[in-house]
Amino acid sequence: MLENVIKKRVTEQSAMEEKENVLISACLLGLCCRYDGEEKQYESIEALMKLCHLIPVCPEQLGGLKTPRDPAERRGNRVLTSKGEDVTNSYEKGAEEALKMARLFGCQKAILKEKSPSCGCGRIYDGSFSRKLIPGDGVTAGLFKSHGIEIVGERQVSEFAEQLKKKITTGN
Ligand code: SF4
Repeated sequence: MLENVIKKRVTEQSAMEEKENVLISACLLGLCCRYDGEEKQYESIEALMKLCHLIPVCPEQLGGLKTPRDPAERRGNRVLTSKGEDVTNSYEKGAEEALKMARLFGCQKAILKEKSPSCGCGRIYDGSFSRKLIPGDGVTAGLFKSHGIEIVGERQVSEFAEQLKKKITTGN
């Protein structure tokens, strides 16, 4: 009985030491990189730190944009600020740099902030700055997908944590 408990503990421990690297939108960790410069806490994400190595990136900052900055939304293949400035190049550069980070750290998965013109996956704002959502991906999320990186939105974090726990416990 005790032997089984110890064996399970050792298996868990060694699996924990081989935790995978997972890229994450830096704002989800409370870093003040959001367009409005605000800090937000996501408790469900803090629990993930025990299950994987979180590698924070902010594609918009990596693309050279300052914080705070004007809000921006995708409109077709372009990204425009609320003042009409075309910031597509910065978004594309940021996406390439974020992909570089994913490769440097061997990340196969990324937890990304939903609805963002960079990080949003599946649903983004429609470009009218009226909070209307349409199907689509942010620039970084789209690039990640095309390179086979699995994307997890912040609403799926609990489910993702369960998957990681299972993997750590069973090794699968
Ligand atoms: Fe940066 Fe992505 Fe968060 Fe926007 S959503 S602040 S690009 S990490």
